[in-house]
Amino acid sequence: MTQMIYSSLLRRYHSIVNFCFNFSLLLAVSSSILKYRKLKVAHSEEQENKPNVSGIPYPSLLLEAWKPMSVGHKRRWWDCIALPFDVESSDEVAFRMQIRELAFTSLQLLKAAIFDEECKSLFSLDIYGHIIGMFELNNLDLVVASPVEDYFLYIDDLPYPEKKEAEEIARPFLDALGDDYAVCCQGTAFYPLQSCMNHSCSPNAKAFKREEDRDGQATIIALKPISKGEEVTISYVDEDLRFEERQALLADYGFKCRCPKCLEEEP
Ligand SMILES: [Zn+2]
Repeated sequence: MTQMIYSSLLRRYHSIVNFCFNFSLLLAVSSSILKYRKLKVAHSEEQENKPNVSGIPYPSLLLEAWKPMSVGHKRRWWDCIALPFDVESSDEVAFRMQIRELAFTSLQLLKAAIFDEECKSLFSLDIYGHIIGMFELNNLDLVVASPVEDYFLYIDDLPYPEKKEAEEIARPFLDALGDDYAVCCQGTAFYPLQSCMNHSCSPNAKAFKREEDRDGQATIIALKPISKGEEVTISYVDEDLRFEERQALLADYGFKCRCPKCLEEEP
């Protein structure tokens, strides 16, 4: 019976976990592994004549490679996800167990794709639960200009003989894409610094991606004068929503907002 009750909910979370799987795979685990390998090469060159005797290959380097991700950790996905309004509180434990099992299944896919024995501590269910939880709570939507458009702009600036040659090669691709070549890529990003910023419904700053930030950078822009020593805050939700709507959305983050605006508007 419980299985049936949750099947539609789990379908929804399955799409979330697939989405998270893609991003966490590409951004969190694999980028940490690549960084670890780079650090290891640099470290080996430095320590050419000193053998590694710890038994575990370079654990401190793995921790260092993982550091930018670890600052975003708050809670595991199955612990932090808000209980959907149509799940009875008496079913909460079963619901969270099923979300955990979903994460476990997803982790097996991740392991099949990119498992690395030296970095095996990154592939535990606990770490994976934290990664999905991190994306659940910290992601910033962003739009990245079409890389294909950038490529054609680059070709356009080439001197004549090179431009003619490049155009001949690129023309069939441009024709095949049609108007879609300029479509922007919509995505979501994780920024360690922005993830550390607390929420206010009357924030003094905004996490923002500007038109000129085409390389995946985002910017924190002040919305009002900020005094020295004052905490910089951003809003996790649309601050123009009503008090009840804001509190309902913020429940996903595991806190009840007590910012000056909420204290004033609380019924
Ligand atoms: Zn508030």
